[in-house]
Amino acid sequence: MIINGTELALRYKDELKAKIEKLEVKPKLAVVLVGDNKASISYIKSKEKAASYVGIEFLLIKKEEETTQDELIKLIDDLNKDDTVDGILVQMPLPKHIDAKMIMDHIDPDKDVDGLNKLNVGKLALHEDGFVPCTPLGVMAILKEMGVDIKGKHAVVIGRSSLVGSPLSKLLLNADATVTVCHRNTQDLKSITRLADILVVAIGQARYIDDSYIKEGAYVVDVGINHVDGKLCGDVDFDKVVDKVKAITPVPKGVGPMTVCMLMENVYKAYELRGKR
Ligand code: NAD
Repeated sequence: MIINGTELALRYKDELKAKIEKLEVKPKLAVVLVGDNKASISYIKSKEKAASYVGIEFLLIKKEEETTQDELIKLIDDLNKDDTVDGILVQMPLPKHIDAKMIMDHIDPDKDVDGLNKLNVGKLALHEDGFVPCTPLGVMAILKEMGVDIKGKHAVVIGRSSLVGSPLSKLLLNADATVTVCHRNTQDLKSITRLADILVVAIGQARYIDDSYIKEGAYVVDVGINHVDGKLCGDVDFDKVVDKVKAITPVPKGVGPMTVCMLMENVYKAYELRGKR
């Protein structure tokens, strides 16, 4: 089974669109971009497109590269106080002179649609309801689509970043998988990944995982985005692996579209909290 993330995302977005159509006041997402990083601009465009599709109001605030940390904090304070804003997203990466962690922790946890504020990170660790980063949410939706019963399965996550690997490992654990997290310093990676019923790869190394890493009949989700010879590819060598697995995601048209879609879901969730603020 090859999962088409673009089609799956469209199904989720259509459901969300139908819910938002019924609302008198639309949910609103504020996106802050500091500087003019090309990749950031392209990510923001796809977020804007998805927001417009589902009916979420999109407010883009562009700041110069030289913006100071204090100025950015002041802006976030204003957005926190603004009752018409449901979700706040500060596009990463931020310029080096700004402490990104501090900025994340400044966002109202109830508007933290990227799920990177430490209160939400803690809630996930405690298996409490909060905001969860969008890519791990997208991976969980893909596993659902694959039809895998996660409970009791051995899930191996390669990568432990705070954006992907770490929150994903907690989601899988909360879903009753037995979870092994691997990273750069893991020894004999293959001996671990070969035991995986579910393998999620988020390392940023083009086509690193070939069939020798895979257990027959595994469910494989490839989070990686790499540029090789002007083309996009994942962390998994798709052609070598595809015949050995039960289900797999391609790159492109895999996890990427689901990430953007889950951001829209998080904005809707923040909107639902609006009444409680
Ligand atoms: P990161 O650089 O923050 O973390 C990479 C992780 O992989 C680290 O924990 C590191 O220890 C581990 N790692 C690196 N090389 C390894 C190796 N050879 N063996 C085992 N572990 C190794 O990256 P990230 O932000 O987690 O992103 C990972 C990849 O996912 C990147 O390609 C990124 O572009 C992509 N990504 C995709 C989406 C999406 O929506 N599809 C979203 C976020 C990130």
